[in-house]
Amino acid sequence: MSTRPYNFSAGPAAMPLEVLQQAAAEMTDWHDAQGRSSGMGVMEMSHRGKEFIAIYEQAEADLRELLAIPAHFKVLFMQGGGIAENAIVPLNLSRGEHIDVVVTGSWSEKSFKEAAKFCTPHLAASGADSHFTTLPDPAHWKLSHEARYVHVCTNETIHGVEFHHLPDLQALGSNAPLVIDFSSHVLSRAVDWSKVGLAFGGAQKNIGPAGVTLVVVREDLLGHALKVCPSAFNYKTVADNGSMYNTPPTYSIYVAGLTFQWLKRQGGVAAMEQRNIAKAQLLYDFLDSSSFYSNHVAADCRSRMNVPFFLADASRNDAFLSGAKAAGLLQLKGHKSVGGMRASIYNAMPIEGIQALVDYLRAFEQTQA
Ligand SMILES: *Cc1c(COP(=O)(O)O)cnc(C)c1O
Repeated sequence: MSTRPYNFSAGPAAMPLEVLQQAAAEMTDWHDAQGRSSGMGVMEMSHRGKEFIAIYEQAEADLRELLAIPAHFKVLFMQGGGIAENAIVPLNLSRGEHIDVVVTGSWSEKSFKEAAKFCTPHLAASGADSHFTTLPDPAHWKLSHEARYVHVCTNETIHGVEFHHLPDLQALGSNAPLVIDFSSHVLSRAVDWSKVGLAFGGAQKNIGPAGVTLVVVREDLLGHALKVCPSAFNYKTVADNGSMYNTPPTYSIYVAGLTFQWLKRQGGVAAMEQRNIAKAQLLYDFLDSSSFYSNHVAADCRSRMNVPFFLADASRNDAFLSGAKAAGLLQLKGHKSVGGMRASIYNAMPIEGIQALVDYLRAFEQTQA
């Protein structure tokens, strides 16, 4: 099994093999930390039973440790994914009033449009003029005084732009909390929680199976949901019930927990960040050195997780993809809105996978000469 192909999917994405193997081994009979058989698989457990509660509490504790989440933030494991959060955040935080949104690609654009159903979003800045290949400089954002929060997508999965520093809203003259969509780079790097009010992310990029959505929210932001907010999506209700107001996505939480344990064995988020820097550099350096391939994103905001790139001759795209598949490099096709290719290189992608991709890129380019 150690010769599985390298999978560059943007999401749902590759998982660490060790995690899949452990989940497989425990599929029909989960064992507790002392190795005692439970006689049932995690999918078959009551979410209120002591076995699942133990799984849940371990997962939350490990996540808090990995991301250094301060005690005054609640960790919620919800359903609905990142797209549902585009509605759930304004339902909980906007009070039906004004918010600021920074549009830096497809995902924040979606967030802006969805928020407009519940409140009045104001476009504080946009990267559209550069076709989302640059990030608007925070010093020039037009933040409004009355905004209930400022929404930023800190890694745009489709356009491949990433904030390498979180904006300091207070220094920019805003007292609004910062809301970040960190779906596609959560746990790839540290988070400066002093700058954040709420962070949300779907699991299927960098954590585990689709179905669980992580929400980390500062306690003082709870309790202001609109009356129409569904109970299952009311952060205060979810927090007061330890994410068990409704049945949480138990199996996805369990597998996410296995990933958290794997991350701790890898040395934690700081170690992953160093590896992710090295992985991204290897790939971008090769793309920049080649005249056959190109990435259009400005150097200071290139994503370490999602690397869109183009072949100089787009008529070779199909041949490129079928050759990649034959070489054991899967799911490199770019998003349909951008075209070309995209290599998503989340935590589970080892540097050997990047090297294999670079070797293939070089070999394919040589066949074009
Ligand atoms: C994938 C993704 C989402 C949407 O996730 P769904 O689970 O499909 O709702 C939202 N934001 C970002 C940045 C993403 O990468």
